[in-house]
Amino acid sequence: MDTKIYIILFTLLFIVLGIQSVWIYKDAEKRGLNKWLWGAFGFLNTPTNLLIYLIVSRMFLQKNICLKCGHKNNKNANFCENCGEKINMD
Ligand SMILES: [Zn+2]
Repeated sequence: MDTKIYIILFTLLFIVLGIQSVWIYKDAEKRGLNKWLWGAFGFLNTPTNLLIYLIVSRMFLQKNICLKCGHKNNKNANFCENCGEKINMD
């Protein structure tokens, strides 16, 4: 009986970690960060690692990368210096 509960809890934890990891992976990819490193990091712990990722990516690693062409723009640029696309800053 107890074993079943542990299996269910472990499975739920695994699903949550998986979703978190995939979300971080995709977000890191969008921002031009190391997606494999962050994706793996997101799989290790929840919700602490998600919070760490959000803080680090939003506050320290903001590179202003164009989502259309991938050009790394000036920190204060509102439009891409390469293709003119509006840069989404959330
Ligand atoms: Zn661009």
